Order: sequence, then C-alpha cells, then structure tokens
Amino acid sequence: MIYLDNAASTPVHEKVIEEMIPYFREQYGNPSSIHRHGRLANAAIQNSRKRIASLINANSNEILITSGGTESNNTAIYGIVSQSKGKHIITSAIEHDAILEPCKRLEKEGCRISFLPVDKHGFVNPEDLRKEISNDTCLITIMYANNEVGTIQSIKKMVQIAREKNIIFHTDAIQAVGKIPIDVKDLGVDLLSISSHKINGPKGVGALYIKNGVTISPLILGGGQENGLRSGTENVASIIGFGMACELAKNNMNENTDYLKKLTTKLTIRVLHEIPATTLNGHPDMRTPNNTHFTFLGVNGEDLIIKLDENKISASTGSACSVKIQKASHVLKAMGFSHEQVTGSLRLTVGITNTEQEIDQTVDVLKNVVQELRAVSPYKSKYNF
Ligand SMILES: *Cc1c(COP(=O)(O)O)cnc(C)c1O
Repeated sequence: MIYLDNAASTPVHEKVIEEMIPYFREQYGNPSSIHRHGRLANAAIQNSRKRIASLINANSNEILITSGGTESNNTAIYGIVSQSKGKHIITSAIEHDAILEPCKRLEKEGCRISFLPVDKHGFVNPEDLRKEISNDTCLITIMYANNEVGTIQSIKKMVQIAREKNIIFHTDAIQAVGKIPIDVKDLGVDLLSISSHKINGPKGVGALYIKNGVTISPLILGGGQENGLRSGTENVASIIGFGMACELAKNNMNENTDYLKKLTTKLTIRVLHEIPATTLNGHPDMRTPNNTHFTFLGVNGEDLIIKLDENKISASTGSACSVKIQKASHVLKAMGFSHEQVTGSLRLTVGITNTEQEIDQTVDVLKNVVQELRAVSPYKSKYNF
C-alpha cells in the first residue's frame, strides 16, 4: 500500500505513540484534580504546551489547545467577531471549509465578508487586501499555505498591511507548520491555527496561537479549562502526542523538508516528462515541499483515484476534509480553471514515511492508468494523445 495523501492526514510517528501510551495506562488523572494523579497530568500538558509553542517560536502562555484545526479556526473567527463593533471580515476565496463555513454563517447573521480573489497560481495579491480594508473591518483571515495546491501566501506582507490599520490578523497555517519554518514573532500575526494530525501527531487535537495582548471570547463554556478559553476536560494523551509531534517536527525540520522536496521534485519531473498533456498546478516556487497537484487533460480525476486505489495507491482530487460526495473544487475555480481542468485534477502529497521507490512505482502506475482512461475519454479526438 502506498499512501500519498499526507495533506489529508499523516501516520502517527512511532515516538509519538510511545509518548502517549502512559497517559492511557497510568497517568489517567483529570488535569484539574488537585491530587498527584491530576498534578502529573497537568504538568505533562504544560510541558506539551512548551513544545507546541517552541515549534512556532511562541510563548507557552500564547498557546490555546483545541480539538483540532477546525476548532482553532472557528475559535479565531467567532472569538474576534463576537467582541468587535465592526462586522466586516476579509478572507480569501481559497480557504479551507473550516474558515469558509463559519464566514458564510456570519454573513447570514449580518456580517459583511470579502473573499479576496487569487491569480492562476492560487496567490493572493497583498494590494487587493489593502484595497478591501474599511472602517468596520474587524478581522483578516488568510491561509498560510493552501491544502489543495500548496501555494504559500505572502503572510508577512499582509500582516504589515493589517498592522497599519490596527486590524487583527489570523492565519490558518495548518498545511505550513512543521514543513516550513514558522516564527510568529517575525510574522507578527495575532492568531495562528495548527493541527496535530497533519504533522504526524494524533487526530482530534490542535492549537490556536493567541499573541499576548490579544483577547478573544471563548467558543465553549464550562469548567474554565485553558484559562477559561476552552472548557472541557483535556484530551491528555493526544495533547502529549501532539507536543511530541511538534518537538520531532522542530528537531528534524531541515532534514524533513529536504527529503519531502526530493520526493516531490522526482515525482513532478517524472510525471511532466512521461505523461503528455499534463500540468503542475499551484505556484511554481512558493509551495509547500510535500505538495504536488496535477491536471491530466481528458481524464476524470475521480476515475483516476479509483484506478490508483485498485493499485493500492491512496491519492485525492483535493480536499478530503469536506467530502465523500465530490463537489468541484472552489480553490481551482477561484484560480480560473475550466471545468475540464478541474475534472482532470489529482493531488499527491508526500510524507516523511514515503520512499523514492514508492514514487517510482506510483509514476509507473499513473502512466498506465492515465493512458487507459484517455483511451476511452470523450476528449480523445480533441487532444490526440
Ligand atoms: C486539515 C485542515 C484543516 C482542518 O483541521 P482538522 O484538524 O482536521 O480539523 C483546516 N485547514 C487546513 C488548511 C487543513 O489542511
């Protein structure tokens, strides 16, 4: 089995699993309890918080632990909007649904939302952001790196624009953290979302960085855990695993990035050279090291996924989080792709557990299945493959 869907989720690192196990077997205390069991669990969470903070150069007290990337994004948006007088939010057209859906709900409730356009590479022009800012803008939320095509935005430049107008800036950095160096102090962002399962940690845990001095209102009320910002008994074992995943990501960043880059470069070169009428989508240079996203003209991407699956290769047409039912990618549409280009798209995202041999095997299979599908394609005569 070959797994090339690491943008959807990643395997949990062996060292992460080892680190988590004692928190199921022995350290099962409630971190809010005052007895020894509770204190040990609480101390472990605080240690994990340090590790999470360290990965993005934040202070520990700036890390709010959540149930994952989706909750971090929702907390950032509702947490700011509910306490702001101005009710205008600026975001982009290519955000993950965990940003777009809360924004659409707020739109129904009377907020004004601007969805910034992107160019054919999926890149937001910071000048478009500047023009969109108005007196009632309370929040700007732009993703760091796109989950479908891997394009990395000029976040630092956009933060500077927000700073000039004193507007809170949030970034969904879930696809970027752990793969490229992120330094919140250098970036100057107010809020930044992270998810554990995209960086070889367990699912169902994540974090929201909240810059010291920035206040948000809580989304979930109850016993007052996480400084009152996120009530509910902590998911101790997963938090410990997440902390370890952050530590591993930090310590191995350069090595991992080089390795991922090596795999995606090989994959891209072979696919573009050996399969005709194929393009690489997303930005040519400003992209995450683990992402490749291709269009094979004349092919239906879903058929391609099924054929690859029959060959024990797991791939995706785009965003896994939203769908079993396929809808045309809003990201590719925003990039100006034709219906045919959207249809022929395939995302292959590598991880640290993939091998060069797997990449070669995948290209060999891909060549055959693309040829097979093109042989019966209604576009066959149009392209003369
Ligand atoms: C995966 C992902 C999310 C959602 O994170 P979960 O931890 O799965 O809830 C949000 N945004 C982006 C860009 C993602 O890739």
